[in-house]
Amino acid sequence: MRTRLMMLGPPGAGKGTQAQRLAEALRIPQISTGDMLRAAKAQGTPLGLEAAGYMDRGELVPDEVVVGIVKERLAGADVAQGFILDGFPRTVPQAEALAEAGVQLDAVINVSVPEDELMARITGRLSCPSCGAAFHRDNHPPRQEGTCDACGSALIVRKDDSAEVFGQRLRSYQAKTAPLAAFYQDRGLLFEVEGTGPLDVIQARIRDIVDAG
Ligand code: AMP
Repeated sequence: MRTRLMMLGPPGAGKGTQAQRLAEALRIPQISTGDMLRAAKAQGTPLGLEAAGYMDRGELVPDEVVVGIVKERLAGADVAQGFILDGFPRTVPQAEALAEAGVQLDAVINVSVPEDELMARITGRLSCPSCGAAFHRDNHPPRQEGTCDACGSALIVRKDDSAEVFGQRLRSYQAKTAPLAAFYQDRGLLFEVEGTGPLDVIQARIRDIVDAG
């Protein structure tokens, strides 16, 4: 079984939703740098203050900042059985720093979704600020309006999920993150998954890769 995993894909591909389901099924932690940075921002820590401007503009937070928090997180005892990196690495230097830190991956799962669908998904997205679960106004509404199915917190619209900021996030992805597909392909770690269709079907595609290892 492959248990040291990374989810790759553009904003709105469903990485977080799929990572969360997989983490529950495999009982390994989901490590989302976006969630960690949003929590730091909400708490007003020095890290959060430094990251806030970049995040609100849809730009990437500097590599050294993100690499630092991930290294710290991966030193935790709960990653011994595996982990799912969600939203990290986002640049080739981040991927190099991960490898230099001695962190090996078993599979990089590249989730692809057509661009017009990404926009529709992001602009209808409702997010849980407490547990990171995501819903969609039309396609995947919560059972009770405005409330997270998973933890009961009030759902929000992320500030960077507006149409304008989404455009910048997509450009950041294309310029800086998309090259990671070739980086991991060269290392024999890349697996492609189509990110369209019912959530269960996408999860099953991912499980096939995880279980085949
Ligand atoms: P996400 O929740 O993964 O969409 O991330 C939200 C925002 O957090 C991004 O648009 C970036 O500003 C920042 N961020 C998250 N992960 C990273 C990363 N690995 N490198 C740089 N910035 C990141």
